[in-house]
Amino acid sequence: MKLLEYEAKEIFSKYGIPVPKGVLIRAPEEVMEHLAEVGDAVVMKAQVDVGGRGKAGGVLFAGGTTAVETARELFSRDIKGVPVRSILVEERLLIEHEYYVSIAVDRSSRQPVILFADAGGVEIESTASAVRRVIVSPLLRNIPPFLMRELLGDAPKELAPTINSLYRVFQEKDAMLAEINPLVTTPQGVYAADAKLIIDDNALARQGIAVNRDLSAREREAEKHGFSYVELDGSIGVIGNGAGLTMSTLDLIEYYRGRAANFLDVGGGADQERVMHAVRLVASMPGVNVIVVNLLGGITRCDEVARGIIAADVSPTVIVRMAGTNEEEGRQLLAGNGYRMLESMDAAVRAAMEVAP
Ligand code: GDP
Ligand code: MN
Repeated sequence: MKLLEYEAKEIFSKYGIPVPKGVLIRAPEEVMEHLAEVGDAVVMKAQVDVGGRGKAGGVLFAGGTTAVETARELFSRDIKGVPVRSILVEERLLIEHEYYVSIAVDRSSRQPVILFADAGGVEIESTASAVRRVIVSPLLRNIPPFLMRELLGDAPKELAPTINSLYRVFQEKDAMLAEINPLVTTPQGVYAADAKLIIDDNALARQGIAVNRDLSAREREAEKHGFSYVELDGSIGVIGNGAGLTMSTLDLIEYYRGRAANFLDVGGGADQERVMHAVRLVASMPGVNVIVVNLLGGITRCDEVARGIIAADVSPTVIVRMAGTNEEEGRQLLAGNGYRMLESMDAAVRAAMEVAP
């Protein structure tokens, strides 16, 4: 997951990397109350997940009197199609020189690789400036001095502590990429003028980062119950146990030229409670008027499933195919409450197709 600049800078700062004084605003008027902290000459940076943001008009300079006007202008833009919802307002740095530094994982050696260039900034991709590259053992907590010298070349040694801190961020935050472009020198010292941090998606839980911050209410509900749930754009709701069986159900719907509304795998040992929540969840999707429940019993008891479906009491038609423990009991419960239970997945899907719009 790629963090926004201000989130990355918060982390960088905790690791001792100097970042400009700054505040995040969500409306143009908010800028006035912060000018005292940040200073009169500011840089306004759209917090959008877009590369080449500066060149696309996402970075503006402003003075005290023009601050609100400039913020309003920036909020009204969209940067490469992405609307600006927040702006990082920062003290303007007096940049003497811009450098580039990044740390990523080198695919072939499977070790961190650090890139450094004497000419950073927005033109980094087109500048002919030499990029130096060193590989560091992931077992080391710091970049060894001889490698740091090789990396920096003639660039000032005062950049070294920041690059070392960036390396620590990279390691401790399970990053795929940690980048500062530009890393700048100013009369006040070294600063990370920009910040980019991509965290390995597999490490988000360990890093305590909420996965996908834009979850819909239904997706949050699914996460709460531990369902694997994906919304699609069809009209036939699907509930299965096991990813394979659930996928097969989707495939079969596709085969009969139907369109599935979702993928929902309730997981193993689906009891009455879980089944009820799953059925209600899928039934709450707009446009769903039929739900195929396809479960194979084992630890899953068919009578429990039947009770869950009956308890859910939803308006879409629920068509059931299940097999396994207490199958007969489940069938009778369902039949007694007006639900159809079919012998095969194929029959269940075809029955759903008759009901689907
Ligand atoms: P990007 O386009 O998304 O990489 O945005 P950056 O945050 O890197 O900003 C783009 C460019 O704006 C930088 O390369 C700098 O040249 C310039 N810039 C950013 N902040 C400052 C600042 O505080 N002072 C000055 N003079 N230039 C800045
Ligand atoms: Mn940049």
